[in-house]
Amino acid sequence: MPIPSKTFWIETFGCQMNVHDSERVAGTLSARGYTPVERMEDAGLILFNTCSIRDKAAQKVFSRLSQYKALHREGRVFGVLGCVAQQEGEALFRRAPHVSLVAGSASYPRLPELLARLEAGEHRVTGLDPASEEAFETELTRRDHPFRAWLTIIEGCDKHCAYCIVPYTRGGERSRASAAILREARMLADTGYTEIQLLGQNVNSYRDPSPAGLSFAELLAAVAETPGLKRVRYTTSHPRDFSAEIVRVMGDHPTLCDHVHLPSQSGSDEVLRRMRREYTRAEYLEKIALIRGCRRPLAITTDLIVGFPGENERDFEQTMSLIEEVHYSGTFIFQYSPRPHTEAGAWGETEAVPDAVKIERLMALQRRQQEIQAADNQAWVGRPVEVMIEAYQTKLAQWSGRASSNRVVNFSGDGRVEATAPGALPVYRPLRPGEYAWVRILRAGANSLVGEQIAAPPAANA
Ligand code: SF4
Repeated sequence: MPIPSKTFWIETFGCQMNVHDSERVAGTLSARGYTPVERMEDAGLILFNTCSIRDKAAQKVFSRLSQYKALHREGRVFGVLGCVAQQEGEALFRRAPHVSLVAGSASYPRLPELLARLEAGEHRVTGLDPASEEAFETELTRRDHPFRAWLTIIEGCDKHCAYCIVPYTRGGERSRASAAILREARMLADTGYTEIQLLGQNVNSYRDPSPAGLSFAELLAAVAETPGLKRVRYTTSHPRDFSAEIVRVMGDHPTLCDHVHLPSQSGSDEVLRRMRREYTRAEYLEKIALIRGCRRPLAITTDLIVGFPGENERDFEQTMSLIEEVHYSGTFIFQYSPRPHTEAGAWGETEAVPDAVKIERLMALQRRQQEIQAADNQAWVGRPVEVMIEAYQTKLAQWSGRASSNRVVNFSGDGRVEATAPGALPVYRPLRPGEYAWVRILRAGANSLVGEQIAAPPAANA
């Protein structure tokens, strides 16, 4: 059944890498004459860009596929992209027979060819190429976010964490040439983006394949100097590869945001060893000390897994004591779920932690973390913070945005009076998403700061 109309709709699951991959797929589709539509029901081609890092995320894709099966009977063409596609391969056609396209991320450069086959009415089209040596370069990205842009610097991962399916679904590390990254950063700034986020499964192991040979820290410094950019973020870092040089560069370049995301996964040496994380708790804490030693304060967030096979009460207490010791400004806590093709996934029920215990541990950690955040955030009351405005919350009658530290800030304010030129009358400028405003913090909760807009930016960024 050929694609009934050149319209498409993409639903994206998972991390920012996937969000950005969807932008690149959308760019390829647009270049082929397709237009995006607002509702899945109006699309000729319906794509799910999937995540398989946790069992729940993968199950969600299959539930969405069965939910919308009726649209296939009406002639719509379905495709599954990304990690679930790579993980399931052709077996996905058996599980969801109304799917016509199954393509992993390494096959996106071949999308025009795969689309041509779908357009010709082929019903079983696969793109399951192994990851190549090349990073996915495209000029065709269709960026949907109006004021924050993502920019991939490295794809895949060479680590082999025992629980992680990423090296299987996304292949080994491929870094992009620094010149291509810097060109894209300049292009983004020229088109009006002021905030960009550098992406990779493990950005710290970036190795410039070009003769320039930049390290990740050198690349960060070069991107931070792009004229027009106001904020540069990066994610995700692996603790083993995180260096003092990165912290020094962050200290030297205020454009680099006051935030480091450094996944710890566990506070127990024994669990870290079994996870094959390649660092001990003490080594992880050395990296935290480096970050705390930066010349300006940096917020630190982390990922944690509870219920990894063999995690006992003592191990869990070590994780609890890690969050007490580090005082993260935010944590993403997940229950372990076995994934196919991983080392831990093959352990079966051996030393599995019961689900009830996992939930209990997850809730205990979340509770304590909320208390820590609520107490630590009090230190912001009375201080000025520069916020990039993201939206207006009609219910709260407040603007909402993020500080450089990535903290959510809600604030009241309706604009500012600005001088346009020496001697000219000042003009009133209403606030708009994507702009920046200075806010004095009046109250602090565990998950957000609340304040009011102030007129004149103070000298120092908070
Ligand atoms: S570092 Fe570990 S957890 Fe992160 S993507 Fe690589 S294998 Fe997965």
